[in-house]
Amino acid sequence: MSTQVTPHAAARAATNKLVESLRVHAGKPLSLGQHDPDATCGWQKEEAKAELETVKARIDVLQRRLFAEEKHSLLLVLQAMDAAGKDGTIRNILAGLNPAGIEVSSFRVPGGPEMQHDYLWRVHAATPAKGMIGIFNRSHYEDVLVVRVKQFVPKSVWSRRYEHIKAFEQLLTDEGTTVVKCYLNVSEDEQRERLQERVDDPEKRWKFRMGDLDDRKLWPKFQEAYHDALVRTSTDDAPWYVVPADRNWVRNLAVAKILLHHLEAMKPKLPPEEEGIAGLVVT
Ligand code: ADP
Repeated sequence: MSTQVTPHAAARAATNKLVESLRVHAGKPLSLGQHDPDATCGWQKEEAKAELETVKARIDVLQRRLFAEEKHSLLLVLQAMDAAGKDGTIRNILAGLNPAGIEVSSFRVPGGPEMQHDYLWRVHAATPAKGMIGIFNRSHYEDVLVVRVKQFVPKSVWSRRYEHIKAFEQLLTDEGTTVVKCYLNVSEDEQRERLQERVDDPEKRWKFRMGDLDDRKLWPKFQEAYHDALVRTSTDDAPWYVVPADRNWVRNLAVAKILLHHLEAMKPKLPPEEEGIAGLVVT
């Protein structure tokens, strides 16, 4: 019997291995300190950039099927410290895909009617419709991250939110949405360099807020809050991934592979065609 492995099967096995290595396993301890933000995942820059295009081509095929089938949806949640590259990830991974099938939602400090509802209200309204890929640039996790760290509500309020969030994500899963969550793990040093670059470059200065420095001073408290959120809400159905984010090209390929992995598992299918179409001559 032949033991030859096809390139496609080999690529899929490599992706599975990577995805597994970045995954936060439900019920297992997590040490964020052991996840190297500068890791390369064994890749070389130029090859990784080329591979990203291959991965995106496959995502494109699956996204078309998901869109045509209109039965399921996928929600990709991106969370990170400032300047970790949420925007860059979205730009790099989604460029070239069909924009009609993608919705990006950014969550800022809540205001107006958002303040008059529970914290999941605005988030639920933004979840992807069937057939769509939804990307959350920040998310309901801010309500157990910044809200916790800056003590916007007492512990008695934020501490019960982990269970709400798990139940909410389980509801989405049960109703046909695949939930995938990536924490872009940037180092404190790399963040400093990127914030400095924003200050120094007039083209990037608009991205810098004085408040970024306040958040930076709270780094250890944010790390603690991230740790707890990841450990307490990573489930088999809605897993968290810790993505090395000091190198943009690693971050982009890793997130793309995680997305592809979950899209493959969804097995989207083109809807059945009407009888008699095959071979029809259109006049
Ligand atoms: P980004 O930093 O994502 O590029 P902004 O500069 O507009 O975008 O920052 C959005 C800010 O909104 C962040 O500081 C984030 O912590 C804050 N934010 C988001 N959701 C909430 C929330 N539920 N409660 C308080 N602050 C929030």
